[in-house]
Amino acid sequence: MVHASELKICEVDTDCLFCRIVAGEIPATVVHETDTTLAFRDIDPKAPVHVLVIPKTHHPDVVTLARQDPAVSADLLSAAAAVAEAEGLLADGFRLLFNTGVYAGQEVFHVHGHVLGGEPLGPMLA
Ligand code: C5P
Repeated sequence: MVHASELKICEVDTDCLFCRIVAGEIPATVVHETDTTLAFRDIDPKAPVHVLVIPKTHHPDVVTLARQDPAVSADLLSAAAAVAEAEGLLADGFRLLFNTGVYAGQEVFHVHGHVLGGEPLGPMLA
């Protein structure tokens, strides 16, 4: 039997909000795009710069992505670095955050890295 998590990893999931952004069905302010990734401004920014970086293929979280597609995992890190540079974050630093699962408060189950910066962010676990 094929586990549900193994299905449709390279297709658009029509029930997934971020797949629908990739498909152009939901608007987003796109700041960076490659063949395999998309980056857009968070709709509810938690810092002066708050960009979400996602793979165009559907994977629920970063663990699944790392296991199923190491090449796109690397693309995602490269895209996050490109966004940080384009947003002027390299000199002062920034945070790259992947909420993963319920305890982390993950709300959208299409893997996304939060690129946060533009001001001192404080300690992670304050
Ligand atoms: O890591 P987590 O799943 O909690 O983050 C989801 C993020 O997606 C939130 O920061 C939320 O503001 C953002 N979001 C968005 N555009 C939407 C829906 C959610 O940028 N249409």
